[in-house]
Amino acid sequence: MHIFKKLLPILLFLSSITSFAQQIEIIQKPITFDDTRAQLSLDYLKRRHNLIQQTPTITPKMIVLHWTASRSLMGTYATFNKSILPNSRKALVNASSLNVSSHYLVDRDGSIYQLLPDTVFARHVIGLNYCAIGIENVGSDNYPLTQAQLSANEKLVRYLTKKYNIQYLIGHYEHTWFKNTSLWRETNPYYFSQKTDPGISFMRKIREELQDLNLKGAPAKK
Ligand SMILES: [Zn+2]
Repeated sequence: MHIFKKLLPILLFLSSITSFAQQIEIIQKPITFDDTRAQLSLDYLKRRHNLIQQTPTITPKMIVLHWTASRSLMGTYATFNKSILPNSRKALVNASSLNVSSHYLVDRDGSIYQLLPDTVFARHVIGLNYCAIGIENVGSDNYPLTQAQLSANEKLVRYLTKKYNIQYLIGHYEHTWFKNTSLWRETNPYYFSQKTDPGISFMRKIREELQDLNLKGAPAKK
């Protein structure tokens, strides 16, 4: 675990270099990833995904787009920065006390902040965290995502797809459609949530822009 923590800044530094080489500006704004968060991530991988690992890492296969449901970048950062989930989020706390987070956070003006290295475990999508990079966007149902966010997400998905073997691009509201597929890994069949983020029209627009990448979506809703 100690070695893993030493590796974190190196991973972030390496991703800054590659992002620069690929003409995308990514601002490094790491959230806390202490021993508590590392241990809770390993517990989550084991208890929820039935995966026993030595390091809290992922092999990215999928990108999941979200909105924060809050209006502030700093508020979201502060929420994700804690390692332990507050007790007020009862349904989630019962499943694990690991706090929620995501790898990226995109502000209203399209600025891209990286909160965690791409291959570090983050809790942002039930059943699929073990293989999914999360991109959060500041916005909500009543505060629809902006054109600048659409362009930033498009660039970021292109950049990540070049870097990793990404096969799927989904909106968070589509995650439950993976139940009954081999990708879905959640030990409790009754633990899932209904989501609307990041909105149907945002997903339609970004898929139009990224057609050439041939990324798969979620399987048809059953
Ligand atoms: Zn979400």
